[in-house]
Amino acid sequence: MSSAVSAVLTRRIAAWHLCLAVAPVVIGLYYALVHLGVSPGTQVALYVSANAAFAVCALVVARRTPALRTIMLLLAASGAAGVAGDVTFYFQALVNSEVPYPGTADVFYLAAYPLMAAALLLVIRRRTPGWDGASGIDAAIVAVGAGYVVYEYVIAPTWNVGADNLTLFVSVAYPLGDLMLIVVGARLMLGAGPRTTSLRLIGGYLVLVLFADTVYSIQSLNGTYQAGNYLDVFWMTSGFLVAAAILHPGVTKMASPSNTATPDATTGRLLVLAGAAMTAPTSLLVIDARTGEADVSTAAIICNVLFLLVLVRMTGLVRAQRHAAITDGLTGLRSRRFFEESLRSEGARAGRNHAPLSMLLLDIDHFKNINDTHGHNGGDRVLVEVTHRLRELVRPGDVVARYGGEEFAVLLPNTGPAAAREIAERVRRGVSSAPIAVADSRTARVTVSVGIAGMPGTATTDELVLAADRALYAAKNAGRNQVCAADEESLVPA
Ligand code: GH3
Ligand code: MG
Ligand code: MG
Repeated sequence: MSSAVSAVLTRRIAAWHLCLAVAPVVIGLYYALVHLGVSPGTQVALYVSANAAFAVCALVVARRTPALRTIMLLLAASGAAGVAGDVTFYFQALVNSEVPYPGTADVFYLAAYPLMAAALLLVIRRRTPGWDGASGIDAAIVAVGAGYVVYEYVIAPTWNVGADNLTLFVSVAYPLGDLMLIVVGARLMLGAGPRTTSLRLIGGYLVLVLFADTVYSIQSLNGTYQAGNYLDVFWMTSGFLVAAAILHPGVTKMASPSNTATPDATTGRLLVLAGAAMTAPTSLLVIDARTGEADVSTAAIICNVLFLLVLVRMTGLVRAQRHAAITDGLTGLRSRRFFEESLRSEGARAGRNHAPLSMLLLDIDHFKNINDTHGHNGGDRVLVEVTHRLRELVRPGDVVARYGGEEFAVLLPNTGPAAAREIAERVRRGVSSAPIAVADSRTARVTVSVGIAGMPGTATTDELVLAADRALYAAKNAGRNQVCAADEESLVPA
Protein backbone atom coordinates (compact mmCIF):
# COMPACT_ATOMS: atom_id res chain seq x y z
CA MET A 1 0.00 0.00 0.00
CA SER A 2 1.43 3.37 -0.96
CA SER A 3 2.13 5.82 1.84
CA ALA A 4 -0.30 8.34 0.31
CA VAL A 5 -3.15 5.81 0.46
CA SER A 6 -2.36 4.75 4.01
CA ALA A 7 -2.18 8.41 5.02
CA VAL A 8 -5.69 8.94 3.63
CA LEU A 9 -6.93 5.80 5.42
CA THR A 10 -5.44 6.86 8.72
CA ARG A 11 -7.02 10.27 8.33
CA ARG A 12 -10.40 8.70 7.64
CA ILE A 13 -10.19 6.23 10.52
CA ALA A 14 -9.41 9.13 12.80
CA ALA A 15 -12.21 11.14 11.20
CA TRP A 16 -14.98 8.58 11.74
CA HIS A 17 -13.94 7.97 15.33
CA LEU A 18 -13.77 11.69 15.88
CA CYS A 19 -17.23 12.12 14.43
CA LEU A 20 -18.71 9.58 16.88
CA ALA A 21 -16.80 11.15 19.77
CA VAL A 22 -17.90 14.71 18.97
CA ALA A 23 -21.59 13.78 18.63
CA PRO A 24 -22.39 13.32 22.37
CA VAL A 25 -20.50 16.52 23.21
CA VAL A 26 -22.46 18.57 20.67
CA ILE A 27 -25.76 16.99 21.73
CA GLY A 28 -24.97 17.49 25.45
CA LEU A 29 -24.11 21.14 24.86
CA TYR A 30 -27.28 21.64 22.83
CA TYR A 31 -29.48 20.24 25.59
CA ALA A 32 -27.64 22.27 28.22
CA LEU A 33 -28.40 25.48 26.31
CA VAL A 34 -32.02 24.41 25.68
CA HIS A 35 -32.41 23.65 29.38
CA LEU A 36 -30.95 27.00 30.42
CA GLY A 37 -32.92 28.80 27.70
CA VAL A 38 -29.90 30.80 26.52
CA SER A 39 -28.04 31.52 23.24
CA PRO A 40 -30.72 30.52 20.73
CA GLY A 41 -28.27 31.16 17.89
CA THR A 42 -25.79 28.64 19.30
CA GLN A 43 -28.62 26.19 19.91
CA VAL A 44 -29.53 26.37 16.21
CA ALA A 45 -25.90 26.03 15.15
CA LEU A 46 -25.43 22.97 17.34
CA TYR A 47 -28.64 21.37 16.16
CA VAL A 48 -27.89 22.02 12.48
CA SER A 49 -24.35 20.66 12.85
CA ALA A 50 -25.67 17.06 12.74
CA ASN A 51 -27.19 17.33 9.27
CA ALA A 52 -24.39 19.67 8.17
CA ALA A 53 -21.78 17.12 9.27
CA PHE A 54 -23.13 14.43 7.02
CA ALA A 55 -23.70 16.78 4.06
CA VAL A 56 -20.13 18.08 4.25
CA CYS A 57 -18.61 14.60 4.78
CA ALA A 58 -20.53 13.30 1.77
CA LEU A 59 -19.23 16.16 -0.38
CA VAL A 60 -15.64 15.49 0.71
CA VAL A 61 -15.90 11.76 -0.08
CA ALA A 62 -17.64 12.53 -3.40
CA ARG A 63 -14.57 14.55 -4.41
CA ARG A 64 -12.07 11.96 -3.20
CA THR A 65 -13.77 8.77 -4.38
CA PRO A 66 -15.04 8.95 -7.98
CA ALA A 67 -16.63 5.47 -7.72
CA LEU A 68 -19.00 6.73 -5.02
CA ARG A 69 -19.63 10.17 -6.51
CA THR A 70 -23.34 9.84 -7.39
CA ILE A 71 -24.21 8.12 -4.11
CA MET A 72 -22.32 10.73 -2.09
CA LEU A 73 -23.81 13.66 -3.99
CA LEU A 74 -27.33 12.32 -3.33
CA LEU A 75 -26.46 11.90 0.37
CA ALA A 76 -25.01 15.41 0.45
CA ALA A 77 -28.17 16.78 -1.17
CA SER A 78 -30.30 14.94 1.41
CA GLY A 79 -28.19 16.33 4.27
CA ALA A 80 -28.29 19.81 2.74
CA ALA A 81 -32.09 19.63 2.45
CA GLY A 82 -32.16 18.73 6.17
CA VAL A 83 -29.93 21.72 6.98
CA ALA A 84 -32.13 24.04 4.90
CA GLY A 85 -35.19 22.70 6.74
CA ASP A 86 -33.55 23.17 10.16
CA VAL A 87 -32.37 26.72 9.37
CA THR A 88 -35.76 27.78 7.97
CA PHE A 89 -37.60 26.21 10.92
CA TYR A 90 -35.49 27.89 13.57
CA PHE A 91 -35.28 31.19 11.71
CA GLN A 92 -39.07 31.37 11.61
CA ALA A 93 -39.36 30.14 15.19
CA LEU A 94 -36.89 32.75 16.48
CA VAL A 95 -37.75 35.75 14.25
CA ASN A 96 -41.49 35.31 13.77
CA SER A 97 -41.89 33.22 16.94
CA GLU A 98 -44.22 31.03 14.88
CA VAL A 99 -43.49 28.32 12.32
CA PRO A 100 -46.18 28.05 9.64
CA TYR A 101 -47.44 24.52 9.02
CA PRO A 102 -47.23 23.49 6.27
CA GLY A 103 -44.39 25.87 5.48
CA THR A 104 -41.10 26.26 3.62
CA ALA A 105 -39.26 24.09 6.17
CA ASP A 106 -41.54 21.18 5.27
CA VAL A 107 -40.60 21.46 1.59
CA PHE A 108 -36.93 20.98 2.52
CA TYR A 109 -37.56 18.26 5.11
CA LEU A 110 -39.75 16.30 2.69
CA ALA A 111 -37.16 16.64 -0.10
CA ALA A 112 -34.59 14.92 2.14
CA TYR A 113 -36.53 11.60 2.06
CA PRO A 114 -36.46 10.79 -1.69
CA LEU A 115 -32.84 11.96 -1.93
CA MET A 116 -31.80 9.62 0.88
CA ALA A 117 -33.89 6.78 -0.57
CA ALA A 118 -32.30 7.30 -4.02
CA ALA A 119 -28.80 7.15 -2.50
CA LEU A 120 -29.63 3.91 -0.65
CA LEU A 121 -31.24 2.43 -3.78
CA LEU A 122 -28.05 3.08 -5.68
CA VAL A 123 -26.06 1.32 -2.94
CA ILE A 124 -28.44 -1.67 -3.24
CA ARG A 125 -28.02 -1.81 -7.03
CA ARG A 126 -24.24 -1.80 -6.64
CA ARG A 127 -24.26 -4.53 -3.97
CA THR A 128 -26.60 -6.91 -5.78
CA PRO A 129 -26.59 -6.17 -9.51
CA GLY A 130 -28.72 -9.30 -10.14
CA TRP A 131 -32.27 -9.96 -9.01
CA ASP A 132 -32.14 -11.05 -5.37
CA GLY A 133 -35.74 -12.25 -4.98
CA ALA A 134 -35.32 -13.77 -1.49
CA SER A 135 -34.10 -10.47 -0.04
CA GLY A 136 -36.92 -8.71 -1.84
CA ILE A 137 -39.45 -10.90 -0.02
CA ASP A 138 -37.66 -10.37 3.32
CA ALA A 139 -37.76 -6.63 2.76
CA ALA A 140 -41.44 -6.84 1.80
CA ILE A 141 -42.23 -8.70 5.06
CA VAL A 142 -40.48 -6.03 7.14
CA ALA A 143 -41.99 -3.21 5.08
CA VAL A 144 -45.55 -4.55 5.32
CA GLY A 145 -45.18 -5.16 9.10
CA ALA A 146 -43.63 -1.76 9.79
CA GLY A 147 -45.87 -0.07 7.24
CA TYR A 148 -48.90 -1.35 9.10
CA VAL A 149 -47.67 0.23 12.34
CA VAL A 150 -47.03 3.55 10.58
CA TYR A 151 -50.47 3.37 8.95
CA GLU A 152 -52.35 2.38 12.09
CA TYR A 153 -50.69 4.84 14.47
CA VAL A 154 -49.85 7.77 12.20
CA ILE A 155 -51.49 7.86 8.78
CA ALA A 156 -55.01 6.73 9.73
CA PRO A 157 -55.28 9.07 12.78
CA THR A 158 -53.87 11.98 10.71
CA TRP A 159 -56.52 11.35 8.10
CA ASN A 160 -59.21 11.57 10.75
CA VAL A 161 -58.05 14.91 12.19
CA GLY A 162 -60.09 16.81 9.61
CA ALA A 163 -57.55 19.45 8.55
CA ASP A 164 -57.54 21.22 5.17
CA ASN A 165 -56.25 19.38 2.12
CA LEU A 166 -52.74 20.83 2.05
CA THR A 167 -52.14 20.23 5.76
CA LEU A 168 -53.44 16.70 5.40
CA PHE A 169 -51.24 16.10 2.36
CA VAL A 170 -48.09 17.32 4.12
CA SER A 171 -48.91 15.47 7.35
CA VAL A 172 -49.32 12.20 5.46
CA ALA A 173 -46.26 12.89 3.29
CA TYR A 174 -43.95 12.55 6.31
CA PRO A 175 -44.99 9.02 7.32
CA LEU A 176 -45.02 8.09 3.64
CA GLY A 177 -41.42 9.35 3.40
CA ASP A 178 -40.59 7.17 6.40
CA LEU A 179 -42.32 4.22 4.76
CA MET A 180 -40.19 4.77 1.65
CA LEU A 181 -37.07 4.65 3.85
CA ILE A 182 -38.35 1.50 5.60
CA VAL A 183 -38.79 -0.29 2.26
CA VAL A 184 -35.41 0.76 0.86
CA GLY A 185 -33.64 0.36 4.21
CA ALA A 186 -35.04 -3.14 4.79
CA ARG A 187 -33.97 -4.20 1.30
CA LEU A 188 -30.49 -2.78 1.92
CA MET A 189 -30.01 -4.34 5.35
CA LEU A 190 -31.49 -7.73 4.41
CA GLY A 191 -29.92 -8.05 0.94
CA ALA A 192 -26.80 -10.07 0.16
CA GLY A 193 -23.43 -8.44 0.71
CA PRO A 194 -20.89 -7.68 3.41
CA ARG A 195 -22.13 -6.30 6.72
CA THR A 196 -19.59 -3.49 6.91
CA THR A 197 -19.37 -0.93 9.71
CA SER A 198 -20.70 1.71 7.32
CA LEU A 199 -23.75 -0.42 6.62
CA ARG A 200 -24.40 -0.94 10.34
CA LEU A 201 -24.10 2.80 10.95
CA ILE A 202 -26.61 3.49 8.16
CA GLY A 203 -28.88 0.85 9.76
CA GLY A 204 -28.56 2.73 13.07
CA TYR A 205 -29.45 5.98 11.31
CA LEU A 206 -32.60 4.43 9.81
CA VAL A 207 -33.80 2.98 13.13
CA LEU A 208 -33.29 6.29 14.97
CA VAL A 209 -34.92 8.44 12.29
CA LEU A 210 -37.89 6.15 11.84
CA PHE A 211 -38.45 5.91 15.58
CA ALA A 212 -38.15 9.68 16.15
CA ASP A 213 -40.36 10.54 13.14
CA THR A 214 -43.10 8.16 14.25
CA VAL A 215 -43.08 9.38 17.86
CA TYR A 216 -43.00 12.98 16.60
CA SER A 217 -46.09 12.35 14.45
CA ILE A 218 -47.93 10.74 17.36
CA GLN A 219 -46.98 13.60 19.70
CA SER A 220 -48.02 16.18 17.10
CA LEU A 221 -51.36 14.44 16.71
CA ASN A 222 -52.15 14.41 20.42
CA GLY A 223 -50.63 17.83 21.01
CA THR A 224 -47.84 16.74 23.35
CA TYR A 225 -44.89 17.63 21.10
CA GLN A 226 -42.59 20.34 22.37
CA ALA A 227 -39.61 21.68 20.42
CA GLY A 228 -36.36 20.68 22.12
CA ASN A 229 -37.78 17.54 23.72
CA TYR A 230 -35.92 14.22 23.87
CA LEU A 231 -36.57 13.44 20.20
CA ASP A 232 -33.80 15.83 19.09
CA VAL A 233 -31.27 13.39 20.54
CA PHE A 234 -32.41 10.78 18.01
CA TRP A 235 -32.44 13.12 15.02
CA MET A 236 -29.05 14.63 15.88
CA THR A 237 -27.42 11.27 16.59
CA SER A 238 -28.75 9.93 13.30
CA GLY A 239 -27.02 12.73 11.37
CA PHE A 240 -23.69 11.98 13.04
CA LEU A 241 -24.12 8.25 12.36
CA VAL A 242 -24.46 8.90 8.61
CA ALA A 243 -21.41 11.16 8.75
CA ALA A 244 -19.42 8.40 10.49
CA ALA A 245 -20.63 5.82 7.95
CA ILE A 246 -19.43 8.04 5.11
CA LEU A 247 -16.07 8.71 6.76
CA HIS A 248 -15.40 5.04 7.59
CA PRO A 249 -12.56 3.67 5.43
CA GLY A 250 -14.72 0.66 4.47
CA VAL A 251 -17.41 2.84 2.85
CA THR A 252 -16.33 1.78 -0.67
CA LYS A 253 -16.86 -1.87 0.27
CA MET A 254 -20.42 -1.09 1.32
CA ALA A 255 -21.22 -0.31 -2.32
CA SER A 256 -19.24 -3.10 -4.00
CA PRO A 257 -20.91 -6.14 -5.62
CA SER A 258 -21.55 -9.13 -3.35
CA ASN A 259 -20.49 -12.59 -4.51
CA THR A 260 -23.34 -14.46 -2.82
CA ALA A 261 -26.62 -14.15 -4.66
CA THR A 262 -28.95 -15.11 -1.82
CA PRO A 263 -28.28 -14.43 1.87
CA ASP A 264 -28.55 -17.29 4.36
CA ALA A 265 -31.56 -17.73 6.62
CA THR A 266 -29.59 -16.95 9.78
CA THR A 267 -31.17 -16.91 13.25
CA GLY A 268 -30.95 -13.10 13.34
CA ARG A 269 -32.75 -12.79 10.01
CA LEU A 270 -35.48 -15.24 11.03
CA LEU A 271 -36.00 -13.29 14.27
CA VAL A 272 -36.35 -10.03 12.33
CA LEU A 273 -38.84 -11.66 9.94
CA ALA A 274 -40.81 -13.23 12.82
CA GLY A 275 -40.95 -9.86 14.59
CA ALA A 276 -42.12 -8.10 11.42
CA ALA A 277 -44.73 -10.77 10.68
CA MET A 278 -46.11 -10.47 14.22
CA THR A 279 -46.53 -6.67 14.25
CA ALA A 280 -50.02 -6.62 12.75
CA PRO A 281 -51.66 -9.27 14.99
CA THR A 282 -49.84 -7.93 18.08
CA SER A 283 -50.85 -4.37 17.36
CA LEU A 284 -54.42 -5.54 16.83
CA LEU A 285 -54.41 -7.14 20.29
CA VAL A 286 -52.91 -4.02 21.90
CA ILE A 287 -55.44 -1.66 20.32
CA ASP A 288 -58.29 -3.99 21.15
CA ALA A 289 -57.19 -4.25 24.79
CA ARG A 290 -56.76 -0.48 25.10
CA THR A 291 -59.76 0.89 23.24
CA GLY A 292 -61.82 -2.07 22.06
CA GLU A 293 -61.91 -0.37 18.64
CA ALA A 294 -59.33 -2.21 16.61
CA ASP A 295 -59.51 -1.85 12.82
CA VAL A 296 -60.01 -5.57 12.18
CA SER A 297 -60.33 -5.51 8.41
CA THR A 298 -57.04 -3.68 7.76
CA ALA A 299 -55.17 -5.91 10.21
CA ALA A 300 -56.72 -9.04 8.66
CA ILE A 301 -55.63 -8.00 5.16
CA ILE A 302 -52.12 -7.25 6.40
CA CYS A 303 -51.95 -10.62 8.21
CA ASN A 304 -52.94 -12.44 5.02
CA VAL A 305 -50.33 -10.61 2.98
CA LEU A 306 -47.70 -11.43 5.63
CA PHE A 307 -48.73 -15.10 5.72
CA LEU A 308 -48.39 -15.35 1.96
CA LEU A 309 -45.01 -13.60 1.89
CA VAL A 310 -43.66 -15.85 4.66
CA LEU A 311 -44.92 -18.94 2.83
CA VAL A 312 -43.35 -17.88 -0.46
CA ARG A 313 -40.08 -17.20 1.35
CA MET A 314 -40.16 -20.59 3.10
CA THR A 315 -40.87 -22.37 -0.19
CA GLY A 316 -37.82 -20.65 -1.66
CA LEU A 317 -35.70 -21.72 1.32
CA VAL A 318 -36.80 -25.36 1.10
CA ARG A 319 -36.07 -25.36 -2.65
CA ALA A 320 -32.65 -23.81 -2.08
CA GLN A 321 -31.81 -26.42 0.57
CA ARG A 322 -32.90 -29.24 -1.71
CA HIS A 323 -30.87 -27.80 -4.57
CA ALA A 324 -27.78 -27.48 -2.35
CA ALA A 325 -28.17 -31.10 -1.21
CA ILE A 326 -28.23 -32.50 -4.73
CA THR A 327 -25.70 -30.20 -6.38
CA ASP A 328 -21.92 -30.28 -6.36
CA GLY A 329 -20.49 -26.92 -5.33
CA LEU A 330 -17.50 -26.83 -7.69
CA THR A 331 -18.94 -28.16 -10.93
CA GLY A 332 -22.67 -27.61 -10.51
CA LEU A 333 -23.22 -31.26 -11.45
CA ARG A 334 -25.65 -33.50 -9.54
CA SER A 335 -24.26 -34.92 -6.29
CA ARG A 336 -23.54 -38.58 -5.62
CA ARG A 337 -26.60 -38.64 -3.38
CA PHE A 338 -28.85 -37.51 -6.24
CA PHE A 339 -27.23 -40.04 -8.57
CA GLU A 340 -27.95 -42.87 -6.15
CA GLU A 341 -31.58 -41.75 -5.74
CA SER A 342 -32.00 -41.59 -9.53
CA LEU A 343 -30.31 -44.95 -9.94
CA ARG A 344 -32.79 -46.58 -7.58
CA SER A 345 -35.85 -45.11 -9.28
CA GLU A 346 -34.54 -45.71 -12.82
CA GLY A 347 -33.53 -49.27 -11.84
CA ALA A 348 -37.06 -49.99 -10.61
CA ARG A 349 -38.56 -48.46 -13.74
CA ALA A 350 -36.23 -50.47 -16.03
CA GLY A 351 -37.23 -53.65 -14.15
CA ARG A 352 -40.95 -52.92 -14.57
CA ASN A 353 -40.66 -52.05 -18.26
CA HIS A 354 -38.07 -54.72 -19.13
CA ALA A 355 -35.98 -51.84 -20.53
CA PRO A 356 -32.18 -51.71 -20.53
CA LEU A 357 -30.33 -49.31 -18.18
CA SER A 358 -26.63 -48.47 -18.37
CA MET A 359 -24.19 -46.41 -16.38
CA LEU A 360 -20.72 -45.02 -17.01
CA LEU A 361 -18.14 -44.43 -14.32
CA LEU A 362 -15.31 -42.10 -15.38
CA ASP A 363 -12.07 -41.32 -13.60
CA ILE A 364 -9.53 -38.73 -14.74
CA ASP A 365 -6.16 -40.32 -15.46
CA HIS A 366 -3.16 -39.27 -13.38
CA PHE A 367 -5.09 -36.44 -11.80
CA LYS A 368 -2.62 -36.30 -8.93
CA ASN A 369 0.06 -35.26 -11.43
CA ILE A 370 -2.15 -32.41 -12.65
CA ASN A 371 -2.59 -31.18 -9.08
CA ASP A 372 1.13 -31.59 -8.36
CA THR A 373 2.22 -29.79 -11.54
CA HIS A 374 -0.39 -27.05 -11.78
CA GLY A 375 -1.62 -26.70 -8.21
CA HIS A 376 -5.03 -27.37 -6.72
CA ASN A 377 -6.59 -24.45 -8.61
CA GLY A 378 -5.32 -25.87 -11.90
CA GLY A 379 -6.87 -29.23 -10.89
CA ASP A 380 -10.17 -27.52 -10.14
CA ARG A 381 -10.16 -25.84 -13.54
CA VAL A 382 -9.70 -29.27 -15.15
CA LEU A 383 -12.69 -30.62 -13.18
CA VAL A 384 -14.87 -27.72 -14.32
CA GLU A 385 -13.82 -28.06 -17.98
CA VAL A 386 -14.26 -31.85 -18.00
CA THR A 387 -17.77 -31.22 -16.61
CA HIS A 388 -18.46 -28.75 -19.39
CA ARG A 389 -17.35 -31.26 -22.05
CA LEU A 390 -19.28 -34.12 -20.44
CA ARG A 391 -22.49 -32.12 -20.52
CA GLU A 392 -22.06 -31.48 -24.24
CA LEU A 393 -21.38 -35.14 -24.95
CA VAL A 394 -24.43 -36.77 -23.34
CA ARG A 395 -28.15 -36.33 -23.95
CA PRO A 396 -29.77 -33.46 -22.02
CA GLY A 397 -31.96 -35.84 -19.95
CA ASP A 398 -29.12 -38.12 -18.78
CA VAL A 399 -28.08 -37.72 -15.15
CA VAL A 400 -24.44 -36.60 -14.90
CA ALA A 401 -23.02 -36.57 -11.37
CA ARG A 402 -19.74 -35.87 -9.63
CA TYR A 403 -19.33 -39.25 -8.00
CA GLY A 404 -16.11 -38.55 -6.10
CA GLY A 405 -13.07 -36.23 -6.22
CA GLU A 406 -12.27 -36.68 -9.92
CA GLU A 407 -14.78 -39.40 -10.67
CA PHE A 408 -17.97 -38.81 -12.63
CA ALA A 409 -21.00 -41.04 -13.16
CA VAL A 410 -23.49 -40.92 -16.03
CA LEU A 411 -26.86 -42.69 -15.86
CA LEU A 412 -28.23 -43.78 -19.24
CA PRO A 413 -31.89 -44.91 -19.08
CA ASN A 414 -33.24 -47.01 -22.00
CA THR A 415 -29.70 -47.60 -23.23
CA GLY A 416 -28.33 -51.05 -24.06
CA PRO A 417 -24.69 -52.22 -24.12
CA ALA A 418 -23.93 -51.20 -27.73
CA ALA A 419 -25.28 -47.66 -27.38
CA ALA A 420 -23.61 -47.30 -23.96
CA ARG A 421 -20.23 -48.22 -25.44
CA GLU A 422 -20.74 -45.72 -28.26
CA ILE A 423 -21.51 -42.96 -25.75
CA ALA A 424 -18.56 -43.97 -23.55
CA GLU A 425 -16.19 -43.82 -26.52
CA ARG A 426 -17.59 -40.43 -27.53
CA VAL A 427 -17.04 -39.16 -23.98
CA ARG A 428 -13.48 -40.56 -23.80
CA ARG A 429 -12.52 -38.99 -27.13
CA GLY A 430 -14.40 -35.74 -26.41
CA VAL A 431 -12.69 -35.13 -23.06
CA SER A 432 -9.21 -35.58 -24.50
CA SER A 433 -9.96 -33.82 -27.82
CA ALA A 434 -8.25 -30.56 -26.84
CA PRO A 435 -5.88 -29.45 -24.07
CA ILE A 436 -7.48 -27.81 -21.02
CA ALA A 437 -6.37 -24.42 -19.68
CA VAL A 438 -5.01 -24.85 -16.15
CA ALA A 439 -3.68 -21.31 -15.76
CA ASP A 440 -3.82 -18.16 -17.88
CA SER A 441 -1.15 -19.35 -20.31
CA ARG A 442 -0.75 -23.03 -19.44
CA THR A 443 -2.68 -26.04 -20.63
CA ALA A 444 -2.73 -29.75 -19.80
CA ARG A 445 -3.71 -32.82 -21.80
CA VAL A 446 -6.34 -34.74 -19.90
CA THR A 447 -7.64 -38.25 -20.52
CA VAL A 448 -10.26 -40.34 -18.77
CA SER A 449 -10.80 -44.05 -18.22
CA VAL A 450 -14.39 -45.26 -18.45
CA GLY A 451 -16.12 -48.29 -16.95
CA ILE A 452 -19.51 -49.40 -18.33
CA ALA A 453 -22.11 -51.62 -16.68
CA GLY A 454 -25.71 -52.32 -17.55
CA MET A 455 -28.97 -53.96 -16.51
CA PRO A 456 -30.25 -56.58 -17.09
CA GLY A 457 -26.57 -57.75 -17.21
CA THR A 458 -26.47 -57.17 -13.45
CA ALA A 459 -29.38 -58.00 -11.15
CA THR A 460 -29.51 -55.02 -8.75
CA THR A 461 -28.47 -51.38 -8.83
CA ASP A 462 -25.85 -52.05 -6.11
CA GLU A 463 -24.32 -54.73 -8.31
CA LEU A 464 -24.52 -52.33 -11.26
CA VAL A 465 -22.34 -49.79 -9.45
CA LEU A 466 -19.88 -52.47 -8.32
CA ALA A 467 -19.64 -53.82 -11.87
CA ALA A 468 -19.04 -50.31 -13.29
CA ASP A 469 -16.31 -49.79 -10.68
CA ARG A 470 -14.62 -53.08 -11.60
CA ALA A 471 -14.83 -52.19 -15.30
CA LEU A 472 -13.21 -48.83 -14.59
CA TYR A 473 -10.44 -50.55 -12.67
CA ALA A 474 -9.91 -52.85 -15.65
CA ALA A 475 -9.73 -49.85 -18.01
CA LYS A 476 -7.05 -48.31 -15.76
CA ASN A 477 -5.11 -51.56 -15.76
CA ALA A 478 -5.36 -51.75 -19.53
CA GLY A 479 -3.27 -48.58 -19.78
CA ARG A 480 -5.79 -45.76 -19.09
CA ASN A 481 -7.57 -43.57 -21.70
CA GLN A 482 -9.65 -46.72 -22.35
CA VAL A 483 -13.27 -47.81 -22.22
CA CYS A 484 -14.05 -51.15 -20.61
CA ALA A 485 -17.45 -52.82 -20.17
CA ALA A 486 -18.33 -55.04 -17.20
CA ASP A 487 -19.06 -58.09 -19.32
CA GLU A 488 -15.62 -57.96 -21.04
CA GLU A 489 -13.46 -56.98 -18.09
CA SER A 490 -12.22 -60.54 -17.70
CA LEU A 491 -10.82 -60.33 -21.24
CA VAL A 492 -8.59 -57.37 -20.33
CA PRO A 493 -5.15 -58.40 -19.07
CA ALA A 494 -4.66 -57.37 -15.43
P1 GH3 B 1 -5.41 -42.65 -11.77
O1 GH3 B 1 -5.05 -42.49 -13.20
O2 GH3 B 1 -5.06 -44.00 -11.23
O3 GH3 B 1 -6.83 -42.32 -11.48
O4 GH3 B 1 -4.49 -41.63 -11.01
P2 GH3 B 1 -4.91 -40.39 -10.16
O5 GH3 B 1 -3.70 -39.56 -9.97
O6 GH3 B 1 -6.07 -39.73 -10.78
O7 GH3 B 1 -5.26 -41.09 -8.80
P3 GH3 B 1 -6.33 -40.85 -7.70
O8 GH3 B 1 -7.70 -41.17 -8.20
O9 GH3 B 1 -5.90 -41.61 -6.50
O10 GH3 B 1 -6.19 -39.30 -7.39
C1 GH3 B 1 -7.25 -38.47 -7.21
C2 GH3 B 1 -6.73 -37.13 -6.76
O11 GH3 B 1 -7.75 -36.15 -6.96
C3 GH3 B 1 -6.37 -37.09 -5.32
C4 GH3 B 1 -7.02 -35.81 -4.79
O12 GH3 B 1 -6.08 -34.97 -4.18
C5 GH3 B 1 -7.52 -35.13 -6.03
N1 GH3 B 1 -8.79 -34.45 -5.80
C6 GH3 B 1 -9.91 -34.95 -5.27
N2 GH3 B 1 -10.88 -33.99 -5.25
C7 GH3 B 1 -10.35 -32.87 -5.77
C8 GH3 B 1 -10.85 -31.55 -6.02
O13 GH3 B 1 -11.99 -31.20 -5.75
N3 GH3 B 1 -10.00 -30.65 -6.60
C9 GH3 B 1 -8.72 -30.99 -6.93
N4 GH3 B 1 -7.96 -30.06 -7.49
N5 GH3 B 1 -8.23 -32.19 -6.68
C10 GH3 B 1 -9.02 -33.15 -6.13
MG1 MG C 1 -9.97 -41.49 -8.51
MG1 MG D 1 -7.83 -40.61 -11.24
